[in-house]
Amino acid sequence: MRRIALVNQKGGVGKTTTAVNLSAGLARLDRRVLLVDLDPQSNATVSLGIQPHEQKNTTYAILSGAKPEPLPVEENLWILPSSIDLAGAEMELASAIGRETILRDALADLKGFDFVILDCTPSLGLLSINALTTAGEVMIPLQCEFLALHGISLLLRTVELVKRRLNPALSITGIIPCMYDARKSIARETLEEIETHFKDKVFKSKIRTNVRLAEAPSHGRSIFEYAPECYGAEDYLALAREVAGIEAIPRAAPSPASGALPAVQ
Ligand code: ADP
Ligand code: MG
Repeated sequence: MRRIALVNQKGGVGKTTTAVNLSAGLARLDRRVLLVDLDPQSNATVSLGIQPHEQKNTTYAILSGAKPEPLPVEENLWILPSSIDLAGAEMELASAIGRETILRDALADLKGFDFVILDCTPSLGLLSINALTTAGEVMIPLQCEFLALHGISLLLRTVELVKRRLNPALSITGIIPCMYDARKSIARETLEEIETHFKDKVFKSKIRTNVRLAEAPSHGRSIFEYAPECYGAEDYLALAREVAGIEAIPRAAPSPASGALPAVQ
């Protein structure tokens, strides 16, 4: 079972969009996936059409001692939804013994998943630390815009500290370039900068800017259900294949809809 935390202390970089659509993409590749929503804003939960206030078995309840009961979403895909009361968890956890590993302990008995994907809040507080102690891998979505790498050293230091003190098996296994628009020179330059910095850790599959990806959450559906033909779906399926270690299918030519960037697998 691979446990992947999607982390970036900045908001709006594509963590949740990636958590939802990478999970749904892996599910389409016949992998059994559990998406864990660790953001009190519940964006991942809502993006999959689940009403946070109607849920009992939320990540807040689980951090408070409830037994996790994954909710089925679609074939091969389950979720542990979040709710607004998770906003108080940082404070409540602060005085708990073993506060950094409560989630890891709570999920220890979960079996039968190929992937657990943890969608984090844009902060490096206790909730994200709990994600980092639960995970075996960190993946960092980066927006291909000016200042993409600004502040990233704090994140890298935090991952290193968690690894040293709490979770020796943790490693950064991938940088996911998000909202890539090859027509913009700033996007190309940022991508170059990201590749110089992280080298082969950068996934070949870049996620292009695609309005369908921004629309899908309001319909409560993953990109594969909402607009399976769009290049947002193409990019997230390519990323899912890369994450799962499945060989890319050679493509004869980029499809006309795929914009300025040649098809990447
Ligand atoms: P985070 O979870 O890091 O805060 P989100 O995944 O919620 O970021 O993305 C921030 C906003 O950008 C959302 O409105 C989302 O729909 C939009 N977005 C994310 N990725 C893309 C993309 N590749 N193309 C277009 N819009 C995107
Ligand atoms: Mg988010």
